[in-house]
Amino acid sequence: MAKSPKITKIESFHHEAYPKLVIVKIHTDDGLYGLGETSFSPESVHAFIHADASEYLLGKDASRLDWHWHRLAKIAGGMRSRGAEMRALSAIDLALWDLYGKRMGEPVYNVLGGLSRDRIKVYNTCAGYSYGVNTQGQAGPGSIDYRPDGPYEDLHAFMTDPVGLARSLHAEGFRAMKIWPFDQFVTKTNGQHISHEDLEKGTEPFRLIHEAMGDQMEVAVEMHQMWNLPSAIKIAQAVTPYKPMWFEDAVQMDNLDALAQFRSTTNIPTIASEGVATRWSFREMFVKQAVDICMFDIGWVGGISEAKRIATMAESFGIPIAPHDCVGPIVFMADVHLSLNATNTFIQETVRAFNATWYNDIVTALPKVENGYASVSDDPGLGLDFTEKFLSSDQLTVRTTEL
Ligand SMILES: [Mg+2]
Repeated sequence: MAKSPKITKIESFHHEAYPKLVIVKIHTDDGLYGLGETSFSPESVHAFIHADASEYLLGKDASRLDWHWHRLAKIAGGMRSRGAEMRALSAIDLALWDLYGKRMGEPVYNVLGGLSRDRIKVYNTCAGYSYGVNTQGQAGPGSIDYRPDGPYEDLHAFMTDPVGLARSLHAEGFRAMKIWPFDQFVTKTNGQHISHEDLEKGTEPFRLIHEAMGDQMEVAVEMHQMWNLPSAIKIAQAVTPYKPMWFEDAVQMDNLDALAQFRSTTNIPTIASEGVATRWSFREMFVKQAVDICMFDIGWVGGISEAKRIATMAESFGIPIAPHDCVGPIVFMADVHLSLNATNTFIQETVRAFNATWYNDIVTALPKVENGYASVSDDPGLGLDFTEKFLSSDQLTVRTTEL
C-alpha cells in the first residue's frame, strides 16, 4: 500500500543576520517535516512560497516529487525560469527530498540511488567569513563581519598573502582552492577592458602559489560572469602558464555561444555555471560544447531533482559535475549527498570560513570535511535540523501558510 503523506503546513524563515537566505520547512500529516534553502531576492521568494506554491502544494501527496516539480515550474512561468520562482521551487524540492528520505528512514544519497563513493574530494573557495552573506557582500575592511584575527579570512589572504593561504589550506589537507583576484578591477570599465598592469596584478597570486607549491595545489580561476569575451580571453591567457584547475563563469551566461567561443581559445577546462538553471538550459550548453565541467547550485538550479537530472545528462556528454556551495548549510548538505551519489562527480566546493562559523550557527549537522574530502552521516533525509540558537534568535521571522 503506497503511503500518501499530505502536506499540511509550509513555513519560511528569514534571519536578519543572513538577509539573502530563505529557508523552507514543509510539514506532512504523518508528523514529519523537511528543510530546504535558497537565496537572493528573499521577499520575492517568500511571496511565491506562500502564494502560488502553497496554494498548489497544501493538501497534496508529498511523495510526488517529480510531478510537483513539473507543476510548480509551469506555475512559475516556464521550464527555463532562472528567477525567484525557480529559487523558491529549488528550496521546496530540497525540503521534499529531506522529507522523503526521513519517511524511508534513509539518507538522501540512498534514496537517490546509493553511494558511488564514500567521500568526495573538495576544494576550498577562498571567501572570508561574511563574503556574500551580508548585503555588502565583501569580506574585507569595512564589511560587517570582517575578522582580521580569524584564521579563515581567506579572501583578504588571497589578495595579500596567497602563498601563506595556500600553505594553510595544504596543512588542512586541501589540494585545490579557488580565488578571484581579477574581480577588483571590474568596476574600472564595467568589465569591458583589462589593462596590462591589472592583468599582471591579478595573475600574481596564481604565479606565486604555482612557484611555491607546484603541483601540490590546484588553483581555480573564478571570473563571476563579470568580463566581456576579449577580456576573459586575455585573463585566461595570462593565467594559463600557471596551470589553473579551471576557468569559471568566464563570460555572461546569457549567451552560451560566447562561452563556447571562450572555451575554443583555451586548453584549460571551462566550467559553468551556478548562474544557469534547469535541464533545458544545460542541454543547450552541452549541445553547444560550451563547457568541460558542469557546475550548478542545488538551491537555484531547481533543487536536488533537477541537479540529479542535469548530472545524468552531463554524464551522457562525457562531462563531470562540480556542485556549487555558497548559499547556506542546507544546500551544502544536499550538495554532498548528490556528490556522493552521482557517478560523474569530479569535485565538491566548500568554504572553510562558513563551515567554521555561520553554517554551524544555523543547523545541527554539516558534512564532515577532513583531509580534503567531504562525507555525511547515514541519518535519514538530509540529516540536519535547526539549532536552538537559530530558533530562539530575536532576529528570526517565520511566515506560515497551512491547510
Ligand atoms: Mg562561481
